[in-house]
Order: sequence, then structure tokens, then C-alpha cells
Amino acid sequence: MHRIFLAPEQFHGDTVQIDGNEHQHLAKVLRVRVGESVVLLNNRGQAYQATIREIGKIATQAHIENELEYPPEPPIFLTVAQALGKGDKFEQVIQHGTEAGASAFVPVRAERCVADIPAAKVADRIGRYQQIAKGAAEQSGRLKIPQIELPLTTAQLLARHTPECPVWLLHPAADSVPLKTLLAQSHVATAILAVGPEGGWSQTEESQAQTANIPRVTLGSRILRTETAALVAISQILYHFEK
Ligand code: SAH
Repeated sequence: MHRIFLAPEQFHGDTVQIDGNEHQHLAKVLRVRVGESVVLLNNRGQAYQATIREIGKIATQAHIENELEYPPEPPIFLTVAQALGKGDKFEQVIQHGTEAGASAFVPVRAERCVADIPAAKVADRIGRYQQIAKGAAEQSGRLKIPQIELPLTTAQLLARHTPECPVWLLHPAADSVPLKTLLAQSHVATAILAVGPEGGWSQTEESQAQTANIPRVTLGSRILRTETAALVAISQILYHFEK
């Protein structure tokens, strides 16, 4: 059954009027038919089974049949702070990270990043990232679309470290804390996973993290590509927290 996120204000009683991009997507891409069942999500935690009643030129009308029992969102709200990389690496991290259970993504302008988002393109790019998160959340059956935040420098990111929402800095150094050890001592509902760029963190960033008492965390002795490191860490963190 197709799953579609709609804006919460599109839900009025039992009848849902779907227009704009969602209508186009349903009618032209998914080619739904009158009588077909779809899952409508309000991005606030509710999922409904609905029947398509009418497919017009500019809108699709659906009738809500009942609320569905859906798997809850993960018990940890994990924000993935991913250093910007070449090509579509960031998009891949959003796509796969959403499937694996991450709840937010923030592009990081690390010192050794070889790619950046020009200031004039930030709004566009964030819009595209949001679309990817939405599609991935629909495909993987999430109840909420992961949030995409505005880009931060590493210093701004590290400044977010608090006891309730720690920053975990992924770093392959031999003296980093193994992720397993860190997780065994962590009792938090939110955390920020910081993933470095292809060239790793700079000396300055490493000492900023050290000054702020931010743990350096390793995934083991093998050096992973930045997008692989993100995914391996997300899945291990979710494995730990999801009982
Ligand atoms: N030459 C770089 C490697 C960078 S790999 C260096 O030695 O630091 C890119 C990023 O992926 C790293 O900054 C780190 O955040 C993450 N990463 C890759 N392999 C890792 C591992 N085994 N443990 C923890 N983080 C890792």
C-alpha cells in the first residue's frame, strides 16, 4: 500500500483533499485508482488507512477509513551531523539513514570538506534534502519525516553538546572510545552523531572537541568512507536503543 505524508492541515474530518505535489505524485507517478487503499500520514505520529474516492485534474479526494497501528518512531532521536562530501554523499546518508532510523540531518561545513553549499543555494538544497527525507520516510514506513537543519560549521555543531543531547564525534583513532562502550554508558533520548569528511577532522576541530569534553568514538580498526561510517554508526546506535 502506498504511504503518503500530507500536511496536518490537509486532514479535515474523514475527507482529505490532496492537491499540489502530492496529488501529482499519486495520480501521475503512483497511478492510484479510485477505490484503492492508501496510507496517509500526518507527520505528527498518526497513520490512517484511506480509500481514494475521486481523482481530478488538480486534486485527489480520499476518505479516511480508520487509524492504523504503526511501528513507533525510534526511542532515540538521533541527529546525524554529516560533513559535506563530494557528489551525492549527503543525499545517500539521508536516504539510508532515514531507512535505518535517524530522525534529523544537519550538513556540516568541516574544515577539510572539499564540497560546500554556496549561500545562494542553501534554501534550494535544503528543499531537495527535505524531499529525499520525505520519500525515504514514506518508503520505509516512518511515522515522521526526518528534519533537515541548516548547515553548521564544526564549531557551531560542537557547541550543541549538552548532557541531555551529547555530540558523539566519530573518529577512527585507536584511542577513541569504542561505540559499544559508549552506548553501554549512555542513557539519553537524543544525541548528535558527528561524521567527518573524507579527509577527517582537522587538528583545530579535534582540539575544540577535546576542550568541550566531547567523546571521540570509534567503529573499529577499519577506516570507513564517510557515508559508510554514518550508516554503520546509525544502525549500531539504533540496534542498541531499540529493544
Ligand atoms: N583519513 C581520515 C579518515 C576519514 S574517514 C582519518 O584518519 O581521520 C571519514 C570519516 O568517517 C571520519 O572523519 C570519521 O568521522 C568516520 N569514520 C571512518 N571510519 C571510522 C571508524 N572506523 N571509526 C569511527 N569513525 C570512522
